[in-house]
Amino acid sequence: MSIKKDGIMVILSSPSGAGKTTLVKLLSKNKKFYISISHTTRKPRPNEIANQDYYFVDQNKFEGLIKNEEFLEYAKVFKHFYGTTRTPVIERLEKGENVIFDIDWQGADQIKNKKLNYKLITFFILPPSKKVLFERLSNRDMKDKLIVEERMKEFSRDVLHWINYDYVIINDDLEECYAKINNLIEAEVNNGSKDYDKEFIRKHVDLLTT
Ligand code: 5GP
Repeated sequence: MSIKKDGIMVILSSPSGAGKTTLVKLLSKNKKFYISISHTTRKPRPNEIANQDYYFVDQNKFEGLIKNEEFLEYAKVFKHFYGTTRTPVIERLEKGENVIFDIDWQGADQIKNKKLNYKLITFFILPPSKKVLFERLSNRDMKDKLIVEERMKEFSRDVLHWINYDYVIINDDLEECYAKINNLIEAEVNNGSKDYDKEFIRKHVDLLTT
């Protein structure tokens, strides 16, 4: 008789502009993680593909999903609703596939509190400095100075949630950051030793918040 091995869940959260989306894509490609596709009420951006990047739905449809208790978690982020439906995630995990979530701290808290019977590892990605964050945000499609300022303020609030994550990773160099996440996942799965310095992170967060 074969022993069934469930998949694991990995959550990646970060304040806007820390480089999380690229990391999620790298993990899914190299480690064959299935990327959980969220529902959202926000409008698609020009480069986004419906049913691949998100299921774009209207407020009515989203409320219907809430009412039918279809969400594993959902939250209002900025001005829009975002949520992860339960069925596709559980189906993958039951088949032994690993699932990665690109969700904010509210969703991460909700999934953590559900205490599901699958291994969960949570990562919070931070920028190397406020200066780099400011540059990254200014170079995006956010040419508007006010929007950049608003995102910087949101950053100061979001960063405080680092304490609820298993690991905080500083995204200075994308390859290095990916390698760190990869090593920590391997160590978690195989009960290996973990190369992680929480005191260093605490000091880094202090620098980001002063
Ligand atoms: P964006 O609109 O830039 O794609 O995403 C905005 C924020 O919403 C990001 O921090 C992203 O991680 C978060 N987000 C995306 N999907 C979900 C979801 O299903 N649930 C939660 N809680 N947050 C989400």
